Amino acid sequence: MPDSNNSDEKKNNRNDRYCMMCRRSESKAGKLISMGEGMCVCADCLQKSMETFENNKDYFLNMMKNLPPETLFQDFSDRLMLTRQNTPKKAEPAPVPEEEKKKEKPKPPMNRVPVPHKIKEALDEYVIGQEHAKKVISVAVYNHYKRINDHDPDLEIQKSNVLMIGPTGSGKTYIVQTLAKLMDVPLAITDATSLTEAGYIGDDVESVLSKLLAAADNDPERAQYGIVFIDEIDKLAKKKNLNQRDVSGEAVQQGLLKLLEGAEVEVPVGASSKNAMVPLETLNTKNILFIVGGAFPDLEKIILQRLNKKAGIGFGSQLSDEYANDKNILSKVTNQDLRDFGMIPEFLGRLPIVCTLESLDEDMLVRILKEPKNAILKQYEKLLNIDGVRLTFEDGALKLIARKALEIDTGARALRALLEQYMLDIMYEIPKDSNIGEVIITEDYINGTGGPGIVMKG
Ligand code: ADP
Repeated sequence: MPDSNNSDEKKNNRNDRYCMMCRRSESKAGKLISMGEGMCVCADCLQKSMETFENNKDYFLNMMKNLPPETLFQDFSDRLMLTRQNTPKKAEPAPVPEEEKKKEKPKPPMNRVPVPHKIKEALDEYVIGQEHAKKVISVAVYNHYKRINDHDPDLEIQKSNVLMIGPTGSGKTYIVQTLAKLMDVPLAITDATSLTEAGYIGDDVESVLSKLLAAADNDPERAQYGIVFIDEIDKLAKKKNLNQRDVSGEAVQQGLLKLLEGAEVEVPVGASSKNAMVPLETLNTKNILFIVGGAFPDLEKIILQRLNKKAGIGFGSQLSDEYANDKNILSKVTNQDLRDFGMIPEFLGRLPIVCTLESLDEDMLVRILKEPKNAILKQYEKLLNIDGVRLTFEDGALKLIARKALEIDTGARALRALLEQYMLDIMYEIPKDSNIGEVIITEDYINGTGGPGIVMKG
């Protein structure tokens, strides 16, 4: 006896229409828009195509100009097919103005890589604390660019992609940003949560390379020596309960493997995913340095469990207490802990360098306010200085701001927002009176129990 439900379903499937771009069926993608001659497109893909067109208007208008005139007035579907056929593999570079041509392009960094201690010294000017992470990264970057320079066929040096583990706002992104500036290489920062497996709504993994290409002013040679930072990588951990298709976790880890390893990848120019309207550029990822980072909440528990199990064999509870109070427990992470967390072994295998960052304490937050080359306090001091006003902070005020930031629990990220809140009135009121010579931010002012100290000129 044929199952009537099943045959109904089959009939429905047969009648289902499919989006010509993402291949999803109408039942999945929602009402499709008919383009004529049996071709349909879903609303998401149409929207993406329009955005791509908008972002690359000059490129497409130029291309339209080059089409034979008899094609120009055919209906949209014909034109779409033609665009697909005519879309060149290599994106035509935008015309470069004469004065830009004269400027010398930055060269790939291999011949000008500072030695590790110089890289760390430069990082020290901006990044407070995180000594071990800065050291690991300095050596990794130095070796990465040395490896690119080495052409020994007998001994290939392994690619030194990096995994950074540390709490939110502890400086992971900031270290990478500072590093890219220092090395003068293009940098693309992306969030792992926005990536999905190819063909699903969201950004394909290749989209990180489109960002890198854009950061390199669409110069593929420069992009191929760049750095890609993928944040929130812990969100790709394998789900424990897999009742539904896992498009954002393990599958994306799988999708990233070939990128991390080194592969020729066709990259959409100026868009986050490939479709018929997007020009493509081929990028080789073997010299791109991938740094991935994440907070890995609860990883401490996994490490602690492992250590306690080990301690249980011989030394008993004394050691387990010691581990429980260890603030730097993250630094004891092993590959197995990360696998237990949900990262797949092949993915971890392509991240041979692991560095951990400490959570920031009150003293470090105060130092972050004051010491970096572009410290927030220095920026406010300069702004008021332009009006001829000296700005000083009481130590107690800085400590109180740091304590308030700790309560918010987003690391150093909270500092700027807090300071902006306290400085708004000062920046508004002080320029009203040109006789003011100095403003002192007191602990009372931060506490809301008093005002700032004001000293008049002369
Ligand atoms: P995350 O670890 O979440 O990537 P970020 O690097 O984005 O954190 O930090 C947010 C901001 O906090 C940075 O832009 C930087 O201004 C500041 N910051 C964080 N950590 C440090 C640090 N160790 N030294 C100096 N500034 C820091």
